[in-house]
Amino acid sequence: MVKGLEALKELPCETLDKHRLPLWVNTGLMTDVVRSLERGAEGVGLYRTEVPFLLRDRFPSEEEQRIIYREQLEAFAPHTVTMRTLDIGGDKALPYFPITEDNPFLGWRGIRVTLDHPEIFLAQIRAMMKASSGLDNLRILLPMISGVQELEEAKTLIYRAYHELLEENHDVKLPPIGVMIEVPAAVYQARELAARVDFLSVGSNDLTQYLLAVDRNNARVADLYQAFHPAVLRALLQVVQDGHSQGVSVGICGELAGDPGAAILLMAMGYDVLSMNATNLPKVKSVIRAINLEQAESLLADVMLLAAPADVRERIEATLRDAG
Ligand code: PEP
Ligand code: MG
Repeated sequence: MVKGLEALKELPCETLDKHRLPLWVNTGLMTDVVRSLERGAEGVGLYRTEVPFLLRDRFPSEEEQRIIYREQLEAFAPHTVTMRTLDIGGDKALPYFPITEDNPFLGWRGIRVTLDHPEIFLAQIRAMMKASSGLDNLRILLPMISGVQELEEAKTLIYRAYHELLEENHDVKLPPIGVMIEVPAAVYQARELAARVDFLSVGSNDLTQYLLAVDRNNARVADLYQAFHPAVLRALLQVVQDGHSQGVSVGICGELAGDPGAAILLMAMGYDVLSMNATNLPKVKSVIRAINLEQAESLLADVMLLAAPADVRERIEATLRDAG
């Protein structure tokens, strides 16, 4: 284990003035679990279920999925594990389920695929609920939701899986359900979506790409992929305010949450939980522990007035330097 991690692991993630901010992790493989626990993760904000699907040459059966999901849920119990339903398409293609499109990021991906294939969706949901039996630390997260109708369709399938399992005498509970906010349409529907779910989680990787019309994987336009673009910051703030107006918890699970400077802004915006790659967790925790919430809020007020992403970064670094 990296030196110093052990001591930091035991310390709470809170500001100097005792504002708590839970730090969760994004996982996909069992190896992520070990690294996450070593770093004191307080939960899983995003378990990418497509990862085990990508490592196979066919769809895993419901029972195979149950075993994989149980391992994740058991490893973190009693902490929450947020399992996202299959998010294939875009840049993530299963070799045994090819999707060929001219414009895959605007095509058949995430919830669009699984609503068209309810048998895939239902098997996943059933496997997740069975895996959580007796632990009850599961949350279900829906990717690429762009409107209320998709959400309602997905919820109907989740309820159907739940009632089927009860009829089959499984000891299951209906887990909290949440949506990813990663499509601009969802930002403008955040209130309506929040009114129908238990939590929101912002996918800033896709949200940045779609807001700025910049492919997240295209090196030629990488300079234009600006997480501190005023449009991105405004969207991030609006989502948390709209989510809270409906009384639901709002988190973020894109890479941005693992950037210490961004983490301060997200905390000041009011995000309830930040979920990140385990590697970044100690850095983020150290920075949060070195600052006051008031300082973070004043930084946020300043940067929301800036037009240039580079100026935002500079202002954040100045604050971090002041905080030592
Ligand atoms: C995101 O889009 O920010 C996200 C967390 O999902 P993924 O990176 O898997 O698309
Ligand atoms: Mg995404």
